Amino acid sequence: MPLKTAADPLDAAGYDRKCLRSILLTHAHWDHVSGVTDFPGVPVLVTAAEHRFINEGGWVTVTARSMDKSQLREYAFDGGPYLGFDHSHDLYGDGSIVMVPAPGHKPGSVVVFLTLPGGARYALVGDLAWQLEGILEREERPWATSKAMGEDAVALRDSLLRMSAIVTRYPQITIVPALGARGYVSLPQWSRSAL
Ligand SMILES: [Zn+2]
Repeated sequence: MPLKTAADPLDAAGYDRKCLRSILLTHAHWDHVSGVTDFPGVPVLVTAAEHRFINEGGWVTVTARSMDKSQLREYAFDGGPYLGFDHSHDLYGDGSIVMVPAPGHKPGSVVVFLTLPGGARYALVGDLAWQLEGILEREERPWATSKAMGEDAVALRDSLLRMSAIVTRYPQITIVPALGARGYVSLPQWSRSAL
C-alpha cells in the first residue's frame, strides 16, 4: 500500500493548504507530529508543558524537535472548568474547539472537544487511551507498558476517569482515540463538494 502524507487527503479533496490556520497537537509523540512538516509556516499550538517535553523528552520527541521551532505557539488554559475538567482554552471563543489539560500519557497532553456547525460533538483524546475500551470500560494500559512509556499513572487515571464521566453524562459526544479506527468512522469527510 503506498504511503500517504498528512497533506494527501487535503490535496485530494482540493483543500488549499494555505487556508490552514493552525495545527493542534494532542501531544508531541512522533506518530502525532510527523505530518507537521507537510505544512511549513502553519502555527503549531502546544501547551507550555508539552513544549518543555518537546525540548527535554529525549528520543521520543526527536521528531517534534526536528519541526521548525518558529511554528510552535504556546497557549494557556485561561478558561474556566469544562465538562468536568478544571481548566480549558476556547480556541475561537465560540465553543467550537475547546482544549482541556489531560496529563498522564505525556505531561502536556490535552483532550480536544469539537462541536461542528450541525451540532455533532467529538472528543479527540489522543493517546489517553489507545482503544475506546480504555475509556468506556476504564481499561488502563498494562502497567509495564505504561511505565516503559514514562507515563504518570496517577495523572493518567485522573484524566481517564474524567473522560469516563463524560461518556456517562454526555453520550452524544463521540470519543475518538488517535489509534482506534472506530472513532474515525463517524468523523465527517472533507470533500470537493463542500468547497
Ligand atoms: Zn503518545
